[in-house]
Amino acid sequence: MGHALLQTPSFYGLLRRLDEDLTREVREKGCCHCGGPLHCADYPRKPRGCPPQARPDCDVRLSLCCADCRKRTTPDSVRFLGQRVYLGIIVVLQSNRTEGLSLDSLPNIGWAPAVGQIPPGMVTSNSPT
Ligand SMILES: [Zn+2]
Repeated sequence: MGHALLQTPSFYGLLRRLDEDLTREVREKGCCHCGGPLHCADYPRKPRGCPPQARPDCDVRLSLCCADCRKRTTPDSVRFLGQRVYLGIIVVLQSNRTEGLSLDSLPNIGWAPAVGQIPPGMVTSNSPT
């Protein structure tokens, strides 16, 4: 994956649309607990590793809540990895760097963490409770 792609705000728009598709599929199936209708219950997020121009596409973790049993359903995401504070793509690329795999085409960029700045298993401070 090229460095230029990570600096392109429209790339993050594409990732958000993929998340919206995943969410739509889950919503159409209904609640996995009772079969009730699912409504929007997104989480606000402030992920690190996101270029400033792409923040509008990275500031919400799409989630759903059942209208009947009130249990939450959070679809899979291509932008977020669990409750980590960094965007999923940044965690994956930085993990490859620390494992010794060469990603020379990915230089240190101002808005992304440097190698070693993402502790393993780091949990976000703005994660849902
Ligand atoms: Zn339900």
